[in-house]
Amino acid sequence: MQDFSFVKPQSLAAAVETLKKRPEAKALGGGQSLIPVMKLGLASPSDLVAVAGLSELRGIKVEGQELVVGAAMTHAEVAESAEVKKAIPALAELAGHIGDAQVRNRGTLGGSLAHDDPAADYPAAVLALGATVVTDRRKIAADAFFQGLYQTALAADEVITAVRFPIPEKAAYAKFPHPASKFALVGVMVAKGPAGVRVAVTGAGPSVFRQADMEKALAGKFAAEALTAVAVKSAGLNTDPFGSAEYRAHLIGVMARRAVAAAR
Ligand SMILES: Cc1cc2nc3c(=O)[nH]c(=O)nc-3n(C[C@H](O)[C@H](O)[C@H](O)COP(=O)(O)OP(=O)(O)OC[C@H]3O[C@@H](n4cnc5c(N)ncnc54)[C@H](O)[C@@H]3O)c2cc1C
Repeated sequence: MQDFSFVKPQSLAAAVETLKKRPEAKALGGGQSLIPVMKLGLASPSDLVAVAGLSELRGIKVEGQELVVGAAMTHAEVAESAEVKKAIPALAELAGHIGDAQVRNRGTLGGSLAHDDPAADYPAAVLALGATVVTDRRKIAADAFFQGLYQTALAADEVITAVRFPIPEKAAYAKFPHPASKFALVGVMVAKGPAGVRVAVTGAGPSVFRQADMEKALAGKFAAEALTAVAVKSAGLNTDPFGSAEYRAHLIGVMARRAVAAAR
């Protein structure tokens, strides 16, 4: 790992100012992805700008028909939040099954979304719920946020401050976890909400994606049996030592049916 400076700004404005001034600087959330990436030599930031303690990125509240979760809220805080459990129980359950206790107590919502690991859980929730990612300078719709393998719409000096989740009528997330890391071999989030039925798949492709055939089938009838006629194609899905593209295609069907059956 190369030398770097640790910067602890006192405000969001100061954090953004440092990121703008120092092009090789990076925001630091819980460090659960960035530090391993640095240890592997895949990133060598000049400065780590700690954003997890900033008050502007903290808090969970319901505003009208939306649940607003601060970007610095840890996975454990989201999992244990009474507001989240009441408004979107599926989101609390998803957060409670990320990694292990250490990861859940350090890792943050904003860090997970900015990192955009192809097997991460939160991207499935953000996409299926049609959430809006709020940054220090703009609002980005979920459909525009995820752009490919570890690629998001964020600029290098942009900080996620919160995510606004429309509260769905019902939703659920089903994951087939990797036995060691708990990352999703395949994870499917289904939601029936203000924007209709949305189905988002993580772990199966280079980035989270929506499954249009399933959305169409579930819009007709929101029931697991509506999915039996949907054939999931394996083309473009990941093959790795943990599962072939064909296996992942099969798992998408299984996880989607489980999620629909569990939706509440
Ligand atoms: C052993 C292990 C198991 C894991 N298992 C799972 C799992 O089952 N499911 C899962 O989804 N994830 C899993 N993770 C990843 C975990 O969820 C991380 O917490 C998450 O990916 C990154 O969040 P962080 O706050 O730690 O971000 P960091 O590691 O601090 O940062 C990650 C990236 O996001 C950027 N960043 C951080 N905060 C912000 C912000 N507010 N605005 C803009 N950019 C920001 C950083 O610059 C960096 O590029 C696992 C990690 C480990 C180590």
